[in-house]
Amino acid sequence: MVCVLCEKKSVENWFGSFCAECRQLKNLGNVYGFERVLDILKKCCIRDTNQLEKKIDVHKKTVVSDESYITPKTRSKAI
Ligand SMILES: [Zn+2]
Repeated sequence: MVCVLCEKKSVENWFGSFCAECRQLKNLGNVYGFERVLDILKKCCIRDTNQLEKKIDVHKKTVVSDESYITPKTRSKAI
């Protein structure tokens, strides 16, 4: 039987409804409250447009400053 939450992995036990990972998620929700867990996931995992632009800028800077990159020689430069 397939887990009712992720719908991918098989259930932990023959009488269970969740896989091992989803069971942990459910337990966290039971302890901290599902609203709190959802709020934390939204704040940590979902990025807004501004955050995405900052991430892209940081990535561009690291790519440009990569010293291991060797510029390929074209025929016009080799002659
Ligand atoms: Zn699952």
